[in-house]
Amino acid sequence: MVIVGAGQAGFQTAFSLREGGFRGPVTLIGNEKRLPYQRPPLSKAFLHGLADEASLHFRPQTLFEKLEIDFLPDAEVTAIDRASCAMVCGAGQTIPYEHAVIATGSRPRRLLVEGAGLGHVVYLRTIEDAIGLKEKVARANDIVVIGAGFIGLEFASVARKLGRNVHVVEAGSRMMARAVTPPAAAFVQRRHESWGVEFSFETTIEAIKSRDHVVTGVRLGDGRVLKADLVVVGIGAVANCELAAEAGLATDCGILVDDHLLTSDPRISAIGDCAVHPNVFARAPIRLESVQNAADQGRAVAARLLGEALPYRAVPWFWSDQGDVKLQIAGITTGHDHCVVRGSVEDGRFAVFCFANGRFLGVESINRPSDNMMARRVLALPQPPTLHDFEAFDFSLKAILD
Ligand code: FAD
Repeated sequence: MVIVGAGQAGFQTAFSLREGGFRGPVTLIGNEKRLPYQRPPLSKAFLHGLADEASLHFRPQTLFEKLEIDFLPDAEVTAIDRASCAMVCGAGQTIPYEHAVIATGSRPRRLLVEGAGLGHVVYLRTIEDAIGLKEKVARANDIVVIGAGFIGLEFASVARKLGRNVHVVEAGSRMMARAVTPPAAAFVQRRHESWGVEFSFETTIEAIKSRDHVVTGVRLGDGRVLKADLVVVGIGAVANCELAAEAGLATDCGILVDDHLLTSDPRISAIGDCAVHPNVFARAPIRLESVQNAADQGRAVAARLLGEALPYRAVPWFWSDQGDVKLQIAGITTGHDHCVVRGSVEDGRFAVFCFANGRFLGVESINRPSDNMMARRVLALPQPPTLHDFEAFDFSLKAILD
């Protein structure tokens, strides 16, 4: 087994293969220099100085050795030779496979305006990015965050807590618009504003201004110039699917896989951020960027390779920590036409139940982790309840499960 990409999904595949009793060779190839690590803390505890690098590693080096997982760090796969079933690495080395798993993840979408290439216009994906960003935040006064998505907002909450002036600029009319309902987003915005984070919505970026190559501000589409000595860009991610496309595998904004996570070549699977998969909780094939998706798809591929071939149907879930707000999402709530809020918005503990045509899509919860756990169990029921059922049980997840 050869796995390309030693992130969440690749790491999980290798470990699940060994946990499941696979005895053959397992090679895990990663183009980063470090042991496989978790990314979520990069925009949270690590950035804040509350977690060190070692605590981010999934497992220590010794365990890779003990489990005989051949981990090759700092090794870029540059081509897939499908005719001879081999991975080609940058150095010209070839690594044969019986089955290959592509788990190459995604990368930040780049800002394309004048000044975007300056040194203090930064992105957050890797531990190197996070180390550099931490140093820059320590010296910054005025930070402009471009994009009010999860990573931009998590960063904003930490930077504000560290005492920096933070202004978030967003092209859309509200924060987290792609993934979160208006009531939950409005609550999170109010929390950010109470900490002193400023926002400009429906605002585009014209240019990053500089003097002697040093960032001085951000010129907005409405003519304003925001003072800035650091600009953090969080405008989404694009799938690392070029390797697959160049090898002739089917791609469309991600590597296309079937419900067993197989690509158009049955000897190659693709999982995690780079894969577009049919998901029973979504109306169309979808590319999810979450720890749950990467880890569960890694487990599912390992199980299939060990002989347990079931269609992938794990319940999607996600979390984002912003200051004292723990936002959790169970299911895929995009496309909802009806939502019901339960709990106390004033106390900052509530849940938003989402439906489309009466069908239960999922729950967004704020500081109510038990709702998230129960919603995941409800979504996994063979016959998930409808809006009508929820009304009959006064939106009690516990009553529905009982
Ligand atoms: P990755 O973890 O990106 O791993 C892919 C690896 O493959 C990378 O190391 C990449 O460099 C490597 N690679 C790419 N091409 C090649 C090649 N040709 N050869 C060799 N190696 C290659 N999710 C949540 O659910 N909750 C959160 O709170 C959360 N917070 C996040 C915060 C940040 C700052 C970031 C960046 C992400 C966060 N995520 C969160 C998303 C989550 O981390 C990702 O969805 C998850 O890491 C995806 O795993 P993956 O294995 O598909 O990709």
